[in-house]
Amino acid sequence: MLADKDRIFTNLYGQDDWRLEAARKRGDWSNTAEIIAKGRDAIVAEMKASGLRGRGGAGFPTGLKWSFMPKQSDGRPHYLVINGDESEPGTCKDREVMRHEPHKLIESAMIASFAMGAHTSYIYIRGEFCREAERLQAAIDEAYAAGLLGKNAAGSGWDFDFRIHRGAGAYICGEETALLESLEGKKGQPRMKPPFPAGVGLYGCPTTVNNVESIAVTSTIMRRGAAWFAGLGRPNNAGSKLMAISGHVNTPCVFEEELGVPLKEIIEKHGGGVRGGWDNLLAVIPGGCSVPLLPKSVCETVLMDYDSLRAERSGLGTACMIVMDRSTDIIKAIARFSKFFKHESCGQCTPCREGTGWMMRIMNRMVEGRAEIDEIDMLEQVTRQVEGHTICALGDAAAWPIQGLIRHFRPEMEERIRQYKAAHGGTGLVQVPA
Ligand code: NAD
Ligand code: SF4
Repeated sequence: MLADKDRIFTNLYGQDDWRLEAARKRGDWSNTAEIIAKGRDAIVAEMKASGLRGRGGAGFPTGLKWSFMPKQSDGRPHYLVINGDESEPGTCKDREVMRHEPHKLIESAMIASFAMGAHTSYIYIRGEFCREAERLQAAIDEAYAAGLLGKNAAGSGWDFDFRIHRGAGAYICGEETALLESLEGKKGQPRMKPPFPAGVGLYGCPTTVNNVESIAVTSTIMRRGAAWFAGLGRPNNAGSKLMAISGHVNTPCVFEEELGVPLKEIIEKHGGGVRGGWDNLLAVIPGGCSVPLLPKSVCETVLMDYDSLRAERSGLGTACMIVMDRSTDIIKAIARFSKFFKHESCGQCTPCREGTGWMMRIMNRMVEGRAEIDEIDMLEQVTRQVEGHTICALGDAAAWPIQGLIRHFRPEMEERIRQYKAAHGGTGLVQVPA
């Protein structure tokens, strides 16, 4: 469990003031110029050594991603783009950073941008986050007024501008290349990768896209050192992480915790336990809705980190857990996600555009039980046809929750079909002649 002395986000709950003066007392902006003076290579090396992995969901090593940015300029400007389009269902951790720790984010953005040769950073904020955008803008204004941004930012010799761009509420604009398209003023549709943004990103220039939390921890890692951060968590799963718990717990919340702590302990300590007690637990989706659910038997022992959850054929995702007790209609819950992905598909690639519709329609019938038992296999086949065959990860995200449902709750799906047949004398489906 994370000790108070190791907490990065010390004002996560907004118990203290967010403004510059208070942020400075908490340590933000204290020796920014000294950190910058270490040089680009040293900062990237420190971030690599820290073991930080991307906190948006995919877990790609952050320092490694920064190292893909060209060392020498070929005349094109470099950009850091911060992904604040937090739209994953059940996920609301970055929102707290923008609300209560805006200066930690701005200072970190400056250090990260310097390390990648960028004089400008954009943050793309989810359209619905009106107050968060206002708060961040107020903090940016304070930082400009204090000489921490702009020419010779924070006395570092580096010119740095920080700008906000507001999204308009499309989930797909959280995908990094759709985000770049949207930032350029175009329809937010993912691009083919490669090329990755470090080669061809915003306006065709070298760009790194990082999640809000991945950037916001940079200043603390640079102050306290890579070894301190790497000493938290487990090997290959370093550090602390913002997490959230929603659903059927006694105290839904957002909090910072060390990686590698048992999921059960986390739900009991931070979430106040499952409503009705642990035995009332049915399943947990460990990170947003894009990763497969875990049944109670797995939740008894699994650790909250990238590798442990991957070993259970799920994933850490955003580390924002959705807890479901035994009152949940689990088939209906997953069908609801299918509707979400169908709605949010941008439609440019066929397996996703058509497959999300197929998955949603079959799932809707599975909720009623109006299906043949062998259609469960057919549904699984549809998910396999979508998975790995699309331009962006939304196709996988639509397929995985259904695969998790079939893997762990197949008997419940079959029973629902048997009950429907018993009540209605058949499936009610039209039989197409062979
Ligand atoms: P990804 O694995 O394709 O990429 C992760 C990052 O690593 C990207 O920045 C990518 O450019 C980089 N990368 C990967 N391979 C690379 C390579 N060979 N060379 C250079 N760079 C490389 O995943 P993704 O599509 O960015 O993210 C998917 C995840 O996003 C899902 O797992 C989901 O959990 C999460 N998600 C989060 C939210 C949210 O609100 N936070 C919303 C939707 C999805
Ligand atoms: Fe668009 Fe879906 Fe293809 Fe992603 S997978 S590019 S959301 S159609």
